[in-house]
Amino acid sequence: MEPNGETKEDKHICLNCRSYLEILKDIAELSQAEMDLLKKPKRVFMFNVPLKMDSGETKLLNGYRVQYNDALGPCKGGIRFHQEVNLEEVKMLAFLMALKCALLSLPFGGAKGGLEIDPTHLSKNELERISRNFIRATHNFIGPDWDIPAPDVNTNEQIMAWMVDEYSNIKGKFVPSVITGKPVELGGSAGRQTATAMGGAFILKRLIEKLKLKPHNLKVAIQGFGNVGMNLAKILHNWGYKITAISNQNGALTNPKGLDIEELIKNNQTNNQPLKLENIELVHNRELLASECDILIPAAISHQITKENAADIKAKIILEMANAPVTTQAEKILQEKGITIIPDILANAGGVVVSYFEWLQNSSNDYWTEEKVFRKLEEKMDKAFDAVQKLAEEKNQDFRTASHILAVQRIISAEKLRGNL
Ligand code: NAD
Repeated sequence: MEPNGETKEDKHICLNCRSYLEILKDIAELSQAEMDLLKKPKRVFMFNVPLKMDSGETKLLNGYRVQYNDALGPCKGGIRFHQEVNLEEVKMLAFLMALKCALLSLPFGGAKGGLEIDPTHLSKNELERISRNFIRATHNFIGPDWDIPAPDVNTNEQIMAWMVDEYSNIKGKFVPSVITGKPVELGGSAGRQTATAMGGAFILKRLIEKLKLKPHNLKVAIQGFGNVGMNLAKILHNWGYKITAISNQNGALTNPKGLDIEELIKNNQTNNQPLKLENIELVHNRELLASECDILIPAAISHQITKENAADIKAKIILEMANAPVTTQAEKILQEKGITIIPDILANAGGVVVSYFEWLQNSSNDYWTEEKVFRKLEEKMDKAFDAVQKLAEEKNQDFRTASHILAVQRIISAEKLRGNL
């Protein structure tokens, strides 16, 4: 889930995605036919969704569902409600989902859906009506073996609950596996809320082991203290890392000796308030990025590490939990400094992996403990990391390029086997 409703984010992600495809063309030796296939979504649905307001007025809203690629299995991707949703953006986000699912070896293709509306001013009843109407408009082309939606910007587990209920009403039976990100009572998976952070932590653990480093010798700075940043701080602190800097949109707290994470969480239950910790002064955000640390974890918003501040970064490892936190120009500077970047497509894929587990549990009616969910998550994240590292070494490429090559190769290979190329 990507709960921060900034579509500016997505323009950055889309731009990165597009430019990577061009870079890959030569490195992965893609033919023109393969490039054409990757550049075009398989299916695009556009529809009107009526919303009857509490006032009695009816609005007709633009809805989209893009099934970008389904070579590896049913399409998978969120539904977002946002006033700036548009078809081009939905297409690129669906492509990104296809790459992410392929990289993590999930038996899924990629999709994304959107509704052009600002839901923040809707009443609860209006939100329920529009969620149900979205399913009435799409039920013929989604389904557990076809296309499985999930939450995204401005959609949450309550909306997924209404959607699964509406789909089940139409089909005349309970079909929990049509949608993931549901409340646990309706078939949601244990561990889903912390899945993205846990996935990133497992990737970092794998990297650290390979580098023969020990957590207690490592200083970590985390930008962002929301769902991802806060949970990751908690996990890494429990694993013995020293968290020396944390920020949110109001500023940063730093202490080279380590911050008291339990106290910080206790003091900062409300996201986006200035962070509070006794005897530590709130400083400007930029100080976090330039702080003395071994691992820097951007977990806030996109394009935070730019050509202006990249030279100041002292970390040796950057774990991209936010989407597209490093600009292309900054990446060149970081590479020259020898900094290892674990790309977003790999680092923040824990959420979609646990979505896959949710779908599996719904399909088999066998529900797992949180312990089992995280054990299986670690296996998936380790496998993806190892494959990326192997390819990076073989091709003498960075982790980002290797991740994209691997994802694209898997999609192309499935398309070839199906006879589509
Ligand atoms: P969130 O809204 O819960 O938290 C975002 C945090 O970033 C907040 O603490 C906010 O104050 C902080 N922030 C905003 N601007 C900042 C700035 N300029 N400097 C420092 N901090 C700033 O969001 P989240 O769910 O934690 O997601 C964080 C990032 O991870 C986003 O880029 C999101 O797209 C990505 N992501 C999240 C998930 C997920 O499962 N939640 C999955 C994949 C990717």
